[in-house]
Amino acid sequence: MNNPECWLLFSRGNILLTGSGDCLWQDIPSHLGEIVQRHPLGHHDGCFLTAVELAVPEADAAERVDSVPVRTAIMAEALPGFLMHQAASLINWGRNNRCCSRCGGSLVESARMDDRARVCKSCDYQSYPTVSPCIIVLIYRDDQILLARGIHHPPGFHSLIAGFVEPGETLEQAVAREVMEETGLIVSDIRYQSSQPWPFPHNLMVGFTARCTGGKLQVDTRELVHADWFPTDNLPQLPPRQTIARQLVEGFLEPMRSGR
Ligand SMILES: [Zn+2]
Repeated sequence: MNNPECWLLFSRGNILLTGSGDCLWQDIPSHLGEIVQRHPLGHHDGCFLTAVELAVPEADAAERVDSVPVRTAIMAEALPGFLMHQAASLINWGRNNRCCSRCGGSLVESARMDDRARVCKSCDYQSYPTVSPCIIVLIYRDDQILLARGIHHPPGFHSLIAGFVEPGETLEQAVAREVMEETGLIVSDIRYQSSQPWPFPHNLMVGFTARCTGGKLQVDTRELVHADWFPTDNLPQLPPRQTIARQLVEGFLEPMRSGR
């Protein structure tokens, strides 16, 4: 017997909520709007889950259905993280790739059900979902770590240095370059720790630790408001525990807490 279907519904970058405040729908109410795109995700909790974008008319969207930003749903852990990240990445990609990047023709879904590509009707170019690698790095020096407040962060909030990998770079080269550009510091002992998809719009955050071995702290004010060294026993407000930034900090602190 096939699993029943269930749906994760998106519109205008938000996730639509059922009447009971859930994000999993058992059907797609036709009154909400036309289906713009759909992406099968896989099996979840006894049903087959598909992410769907609906064109909910803007004028009365609020009256038709409640919704929450994707970021809110991720932080609330409304679904296992990988499902929400995958759904949001694919919906974002679909919203931003309606036309062929080679000839400008219209893209349509691949005829193969197991293929995520969209195919150009004019030139047959195949467009696949984008994944953009970014590095994020915990920089340490003795028992201090470097934390920074980005220009988009609220006052008091501090996080780690992060940035996009450039074409031709290794991940380690991207770490060293981003740290130098944003802080003026030199790092070595660059060690991979873990990774996390981050669907804003389709990033893969690759987490490292790195030891500061030189340079002079000089903040790039185009990216950061403030950066400084913090003793590990007196840290400021950190990102939520669902983020790789927080997990890198916790992973760094864990051996100290356990006395290793
Ligand atoms: Zn084309």
